[in-house]
Amino acid sequence: MTSKQLIDQYEFSVYAKRDVVIVKGSGAKVWDDNGKEYVDCVAGIGVASVGHANPAVVKAISEQAAKLITCPVTMYNDTRAKFLEKLMSVAPKNLKRAFLTNSGTEAIEGAIKFARFTTKKTDFISAMKSFHGRTLGALSATFKKEYREDFMPLVPGFEFVPYNNFEKLVEKVSDKTAGIILEVIQGEGGVNIGDKEYFLKVRELCNEKNIILIIDEIQTGFCRTGKFFASNHFNLEADIMCVAKAIAGGIPMGAILCSEKIEPPMGKHGTTFGGNPLACSAGIAAIDFMIDNKLDQQAEEKGKYFQEKIEKMELSKVREFRRKGLMIGIELKEKPQPYVQALMERGVIPATAGVTVLRLLPPLVISYEEIDFVLEQLEAVLK
Ligand SMILES: *Cc1c(COP(=O)(O)O)cnc(C)c1O
Repeated sequence: MTSKQLIDQYEFSVYAKRDVVIVKGSGAKVWDDNGKEYVDCVAGIGVASVGHANPAVVKAISEQAAKLITCPVTMYNDTRAKFLEKLMSVAPKNLKRAFLTNSGTEAIEGAIKFARFTTKKTDFISAMKSFHGRTLGALSATFKKEYREDFMPLVPGFEFVPYNNFEKLVEKVSDKTAGIILEVIQGEGGVNIGDKEYFLKVRELCNEKNIILIIDEIQTGFCRTGKFFASNHFNLEADIMCVAKAIAGGIPMGAILCSEKIEPPMGKHGTTFGGNPLACSAGIAAIDFMIDNKLDQQAEEKGKYFQEKIEKMELSKVREFRRKGLMIGIELKEKPQPYVQALMERGVIPATAGVTVLRLLPPLVISYEEIDFVLEQLEAVLK
């Protein structure tokens, strides 16, 4: 049987699939089983920022795999030590320690528990159009009704407020509010860009009311938006910052970065795989690559180049263009699915977001030539 047939038969599938079998990747490109080449603007959903099969990551995990793959956090480990030092060296300076996880959702889940444990309060506020993950805690903070309605009851004590609207947020705060959970730029919700004034007011509010500010940088972290973290655009100091996706060059990993305010629930939280040496070795290589190649600056320069060119194109299907670094949202006047198909045929793999948004999260190592190719195809399809 073909790969397609096998997956259709055996995978417990919860996603509608695109009709393609991806077998190989390098840099910003991937190839299907017919040898057709694509510029990958999904990049594992914002994961492959340092490029597919990044040679430094490949070397690091090969060497680490031959040495030690697993080691629980009940013991010290040399690679984990180096990774934590590296991670905290790029993190906002008020964040002092990290709990390592295997995914973004798991980071959010831990953050919710840490906020309750630290404040001895129960409730949370997150934003409309937010996305924070699919497990019951993270899902409770995720807005989209279709993701939630069949899985009730979720964790009690969660409320949603309009994004970027401080007054509406204040109205929902009570004595029970343990945490406020926000993305700096909403990814899945449609590439909605956070407002600086809003975030700084939220920061102050959290200080006044002893509320833990949980910033979800799972998609925006690690140079995607033109700074190492999107919080850096505003000098925003989270109490807890959740990261994942691009952190380890494609190896599953996440982290909960905590300020000194956060109390560790000793003996009351845990993980089997979190912080394993293999993921940590990949993380060291990926972060080193970001630093050495100034991927934050590259993201901004390339994003700007992309924007200048696309804005000259007068694309009739486009309602609005939104961007920070190489996190790109092209809001269309209708649903994006037919355009996704057309772009795939032309060798560009786009993501989608919200209801009508084409979302591009290309590897930050994408070349200008590849950007031009993507632009050409977008022009052909969206004119
Ligand atoms: C992807 C994502 C998550 C969930 O992360 P997983 O690694 O898929 O569990 C949470 N929040 C945001 C903003 C994301 O983009």
